[in-house]
Amino acid sequence: MTTGGGAGRPGIDYPWQPLSAGALRMTAAFDLATRLRFVLVRTSHPGNIGSAARAIRTMGFARMELVAPARFPDREAHALAAGADDVLEHAGIHAELIDGLAASSLVLGLSARRRGVNLPEITPREAAAQALAAAARGEQVALVFGNERSGLENGELARCHAMVRIPSVDDFSSLNLAQAVQVMAYELRVALLGDVPAAAPPVDDEPPADAAQMEQFYRHLAQMLDDIEFHKGRAPTTIMLRLRKLYQRAQPSERELRVLHGMLADAQRMAALAQSRQRD
Ligand code: SAH
Repeated sequence: MTTGGGAGRPGIDYPWQPLSAGALRMTAAFDLATRLRFVLVRTSHPGNIGSAARAIRTMGFARMELVAPARFPDREAHALAAGADDVLEHAGIHAELIDGLAASSLVLGLSARRRGVNLPEITPREAAAQALAAAARGEQVALVFGNERSGLENGELARCHAMVRIPSVDDFSSLNLAQAVQVMAYELRVALLGDVPAAAPPVDDEPPADAAQMEQFYRHLAQMLDDIEFHKGRAPTTIMLRLRKLYQRAQPSERELRVLHGMLADAQRMAALAQSRQRD
């Protein structure tokens, strides 16, 4: 189930800007801001969704994607949004994380805890710099936040390119969800105000594959491993997480993915051939 969201949906209306140098900078900043999305995964408390919307809105962002929220829409969310209802009304609601990420080619997961996923760990400031650099290349960027109690699960972090950790103290590291959103949104705002390119640099010849294309590749990879009987009775979960990590780190371009799909298809063809020979 996916509602709202989508690359081309109307954003929030901003007043028309005269085309002074300052306005051009603002327009560039606005363009970059529209390429960033805040993805809240399995949020338990609608109040946190509202507070997160307010946090996003105060820092000049608008796009929120909700993945399997426990309660939404909800009165409490609107109460705590304190006027940022436009963010709530435009929020996409998705059953699966992949639908909330969709066209994003840079996915940054926020987590209080270092987990076994072994992703590169960066600060919110570094994340903001990376996110804006990707947005300036025309890419879509997702900042992903976990459930209030359990945070992001390993399978969710495996869809990320890096883990962002707000440097809280070790013995009390967990911020409230909306406060974590605020810290990240603030760093993005500061980075945007500091150094916005007047015009976006040309889009890279080979843009990285986006989350949906990567997901399609992982499905093909899993199918191929089944076809060549790679798992030999073992559960595929751990190996698939490891392989995801490997390919996420590589950040293949669309063209590179096409080569990989071609290899997988050939391996499947050979496996089918071997099977039919065995039967004969
Ligand atoms: N016990 C959970 C905490 C969840 S708090 C855990 O250890 O992960 C809800 C969400 O807020 C987290 O999933 C994360 O996205 C964000 N968050 C809270 N504290 C954070 C921190 N110190 N650094 C980065 N993100 C944090």
